[in-house]
Amino acid sequence: MRQLIIIGSGPAGYTAAIYAARANLAPLVIASSVEAGGELMNTTEVENFPGFPEGVQGPDLMTKMQEQAEKFGAEIVYDDVVNLDLAGATKTVTLGSGRVEESDALIFATGSAYRKIGIEGEDRLSGRGVSWCATCDGFFFRERTIAVVGGGDSAMEEATFLTRFASKVYIIHRRGELRASKIMQERAFANEKIEFVWNSEVVDILGEDAVTGVVLESTVDGTRSELALDGLFVAIGNDPRTHLVHDKLDLTPEGTIWVDGRSSRTSVRGVFAAGDVIDPTYRQAVTAAGSGTVAALDAEHFLAALGEAGAPEVDADEIGGRPEADRASAA
Ligand code: NAP
Repeated sequence: MRQLIIIGSGPAGYTAAIYAARANLAPLVIASSVEAGGELMNTTEVENFPGFPEGVQGPDLMTKMQEQAEKFGAEIVYDDVVNLDLAGATKTVTLGSGRVEESDALIFATGSAYRKIGIEGEDRLSGRGVSWCATCDGFFFRERTIAVVGGGDSAMEEATFLTRFASKVYIIHRRGELRASKIMQERAFANEKIEFVWNSEVVDILGEDAVTGVVLESTVDGTRSELALDGLFVAIGNDPRTHLVHDKLDLTPEGTIWVDGRSSRTSVRGVFAAGDVIDPTYRQAVTAAGSGTVAALDAEHFLAALGEAGAPEVDADEIGGRPEADRASAA
């Protein structure tokens, strides 16, 4: 039986692991089989992580976090969680391999998943011209015409990156102004290969075996038009990855895991959450790392109190869990 299991290996999970390992909790990190390192593994240059004035490649940053966690005694397993039992004092985690791990405390830091537009051709043509990851798939679109859907930082970053390969990149946005930060907007506006398609939604993706174009619908007057394309990159944000805990932890109206105020304490005693999975607003690598720190400190405090109390009858307000009265008043 372990003291602490951390599920997730993005900036939140690895930072929690660094703090917990330094506190001698010997955490087990479940890092995922294919998505270890999280979203930054699909990013190129990270320019806003403090301490790297020249920028740092996303995968390099995550490898360093992983090494730092291992250096202090975190154990990392590259597998997926298939089942969780959080109800009792002992938390039970079942992995894809069939391995079962138990712990007194658990930190949930599963991040977020790419949001889909939700139209018919999207899944059918995924990997055949529809993609959510420019750094993964951009190479296949050398001298092609492609489009990026979205108006945030991700869309600007993806589109700018894709101009390295494509001959033309449209940015299709549903409004007449962007959500992206000024610096990212200016970079996209200055790029001669990028053309903006404003006030438009993609309502259909054309093509049998590969993308040949999209049908656009004007958000101003509802008129429809076709745009010929070889590829479509979807960059319309992310949704918190909560499928493992839907019926186990309280969620917020935004779909993130509910936590108690500025803490990482979830509605279940001994279970803590950190990073994008609790954050509908900021969702930066740095804020996720800070949130991982909070979770590790909360878990450490919980385990220390548990050690002193020795029994599960400790006041939930003191060391975690959502009081029934609060849950009723929030409902
Ligand atoms: P975001 O800021 O939530 O932007 C999502 C964009 O997609 C918005 O423009 C939104 O349109 C559009 N959108 C959402 N749902 C849509 C739908 N169903 N159909 C069509 N368009 C849709 O998400 P993000 O760009 O992924 O950024 C998330 C966070 O990560 C932000 O805090 C961002 O600053 C950060 N980030 C930072 C960097 C960087 O600093 N280098 C890079 C990437 C991301 P509306 O504008 O109309 O809502």
